[in-house]
Amino acid sequence: MSEAQTGTVVTADEAEAQRRGLMLVLSSPSGAGKSTIARQLLEQESNLKLSISVTTRPRRSSEIDGVHYHFITRERFEQMRDRNELLEWAEVHGNYYGTPSDPVEEALSQGQDVLFDIDIQGTFQLYEAVRPDVVSVFILPPSIAEMKSRLHRRAEDTPDVIQRRLKTAVGEMKHWSKYDYVIVNEDLQRAYDGARSILRAERLRRERCPAIGTFIEGMVEDLRRETDGA
Ligand code: 5GP
Repeated sequence: MSEAQTGTVVTADEAEAQRRGLMLVLSSPSGAGKSTIARQLLEQESNLKLSISVTTRPRRSSEIDGVHYHFITRERFEQMRDRNELLEWAEVHGNYYGTPSDPVEEALSQGQDVLFDIDIQGTFQLYEAVRPDVVSVFILPPSIAEMKSRLHRRAEDTPDVIQRRLKTAVGEMKHWSKYDYVIVNEDLQRAYDGARSILRAERLRRERCPAIGTFIEGMVEDLRRETDGA
């Protein structure tokens, strides 16, 4: 640090450390590759954690309770919803899904970014509740044929369920323009790079770093002192 900077009350690192976390919302129709992109982001970005939703959907064999979702009963879900313990919630394919508020607020206030894998209804509720914290990304498959083939390759759902997911996708895709960013997942690496660039740029937004103003004021003060003395 130069002598002229001794008057600075906040350093650049301190200003960054005081940043409020952001909410990175990834939505997409099933089979667009959203889960893979989400998993890679969580592996590569140390300051990013997943918001673990509560759901009444039965657990798939590949899923772990408390890691992918908190699997709960309808009664428990309704209780949480009625006590306003959910930041947003929705009924998707006949099951309830919701985001518990407390872990999210705690992470954001500690400057940690939170990743959400939620549907369109949930995204719009977040817009109403906490728009400045939300960065929304809509991920699309390169074609319907590719989307169908990914769903079948995944072999996690019955043909009936796949058909229902495709039907839901028609309604969802119409909302693409309400998202901040759109990524067409033709090539997974490129789609992932896009998502990571969005996260990194959004972290630098002036509004998320209120302390940066104090840092700059300190520098301006230092500069004034130096030029006054010259
Ligand atoms: P899946 O059953 O395939 O895990 O999820 C079905 C849909 O529910 C996906 O579009 C997923 O993004 C959405 N979803 C998962 N958790 C939540 C949540 O907490 N809130 C909302 N609104 N949607 C969710």
